[in-house]
Formats: sequence, structure tokens, C-alpha cells
Amino acid sequence: AQNVTKHFPTGGGLFQKKGLVKAVDGVSLSITPGETFAIVGESGCGKSTLARVLMRLLDTTSGDVMFDGKQVTGAQGTALSALRRDVQFIFQDPFSSLNPRMSVGRLVGEPLEVHAPELTKGERRAKVSELLAQVGLRPEHADRYPHEFSGGQRQRIGIARALASGPRLIIGDEPVSALDVSVQAQVVNLLGDLGRDLGLTLILIAHDLAVIRHMSDRVAVMYLGKIVEQGTADDLFENPRHPYTRALLDAIPDLDDQGGASRARIEGEMPSPSAPPPGCAFHTRCPHATELCRTKVPAPEETPDGHMTACHHWQDIAVARRKTTPRSR
Ligand code: SF4
Ligand code: MG
Repeated sequence: AQNVTKHFPTGGGLFQKKGLVKAVDGVSLSITPGETFAIVGESGCGKSTLARVLMRLLDTTSGDVMFDGKQVTGAQGTALSALRRDVQFIFQDPFSSLNPRMSVGRLVGEPLEVHAPELTKGERRAKVSELLAQVGLRPEHADRYPHEFSGGQRQRIGIARALASGPRLIIGDEPVSALDVSVQAQVVNLLGDLGRDLGLTLILIAHDLAVIRHMSDRVAVMYLGKIVEQGTADDLFENPRHPYTRALLDAIPDLDDQGGASRARIEGEMPSPSAPPPGCAFHTRCPHATELCRTKVPAPEETPDGHMTACHHWQDIAVARRKTTPRSR
């Protein structure tokens, strides 16, 4: 993705001024085949819109998206069908994304009819059983309907359906956030295992760093339509360079903290994406904000450890932190 923007017009009614929501505002990303890439941020940061733009469920306002050397932006005809086979989406809510009137066998078999029309009925049924087995379901589940399954199982059905076309890239938009905490890890682990076994590239969208912490190779942190920090997962979690990343990390509850009671809160509310603050958009919540932050948009800079961070003061903050806090994390 190169300098991608997605803007939505808003308002213009009797009581509302016409406005523009810059849901995605100049995002550039490069994702390597086979890696698991996470995009994290609070709700409203633009991550779901970005995910939809990447697989062309939405068009860009400006900028380019390429997949495997080919244009995604503006793809038509056979190029678009190839893209629909190669890139699959897993939705947040497995209940509303699966047609309740279709049996599991039809739900998983439908993409095969489109992408592998040469299969006979019997072959298709065998392939459906194989796909169900890959996600930990049984062949006889093919005759049942979505409502007969738990949330976690429904998401497994969604994953089997996504796998049916033989994709190379799967984009999951908060694929576990609608599930019980107790099954979230199972579904995340399933995705990780499938990614490894099938050599898939995964893009995982999450608002919760804890969910993706152990399975991502690289992470991009989004705030109000922009990527504010990007780096390898290990390094980003160990050594966050951007104050917003640090705040997100501090909001992760400890493993032994069952109720989440000791979870730190990020100061203040995220400003409306239709009226983002000038300068660094995080300045209204940042403990390190200065006059410069309030007026000038920070440009992305590369740190010595290979992160990209968009903060005017990342160097000073890192020095101050080393002096005052012995590494506690
Ligand atoms: Fe905070 Fe300023 Fe850095 Fe923005 S640029 S994150 S306001 S220190
Ligand atoms: Mg979302």
C-alpha cells in the first residue's frame, strides 16, 4: 500500500456541517509473503477501513494498493476474480457473516463452486470435509446450520469458508473480538497454525495487543487514520518508541489479572476522526506533548532498531525513560 487514503463525506444535513472523515490518511505498508502482520489501534482509528481497502471491498480515495505486483486499486474482470480467490476476509462477527439459511456444507462449498468449478459434487463434498477437518470440525457438521454452533465454532466455519478458494492472503478484521475470552486463544492459535502449515500471509486487525502479541511477526499501530509506529512484534513490545504504543501496551492486563481491574486506561477520549487535532493527532492525550506537537505533523522516522515512528520527541523520551525507569517490563 502506497500513500493510501480513504475519505468519507459526512453531514450536510439540516443540523450538521458538511465534513470529511479521513478514515485512512496516507498509509504506506509493505507486507512480506508468509508473515503475520498485525494492525492495531482503538476503535475508530481506521483499521477496519484500511483492511477493506487492502482487499478492495472499498475503493481508495487516493494512493495505490498492489498485490503480488498487480494493481488492486481499479482491478476489473479476471484480475478482480483472481484477487477474490487469492485474498480472503474473515469478519469480526461470525454470526452475521454466515447466512443462517445455508448449511455448513453449502457455506464452505460455495466458494469452491466459484473457484473450482471443475470439481464434481462428490469431490466438492470430500473437499468440504477436508476443509472442516483443517479447522477442527467434523465431516458430519456439514449438514448442520450456523445457529447450531457456538461462536468459536462459527468462526471456524468462517475460516473454512475463507480457506476454500485456496487463498494466499487472509485478512482478519478482529476475528476473535466477538468471542468469549476463553475461546479467543484457540481461534487465534488455529489461524497461526494454518498460516504456518499452508504458508499463508495473514493480516490481523485488532484493538487488543494482547490477542496478537504472540503470533505476529510485525505490527503497525494506527491512530486517527495514520500509522504512528511500525516494527517487528518482539521489538515493538519490548521497546515501544511512540507514546501511543506505550499507552496501548500499558493497557494490557497482566496474565494473572483475571478481571482486568488493574488495566491502565489511556488518558482521555480519542478525538473524532471528522475533526482530528492539528499537528500530531495524539497531542490531546500525550503526556509528552509540546508546542511543536500542537502545530506540526510528525514525519515518520526510522529508529536505530528499525522501527518507523511518527513522533517529534521519540529520542528525548527514550533517553528520559532510560534514566528514570530501570527496565520493568
Ligand atoms: Fe506525543 Fe508530540 Fe510525540 Fe505526538 S509528536 S506522540 S504529541 S510527543
Ligand atoms: Mg473495526
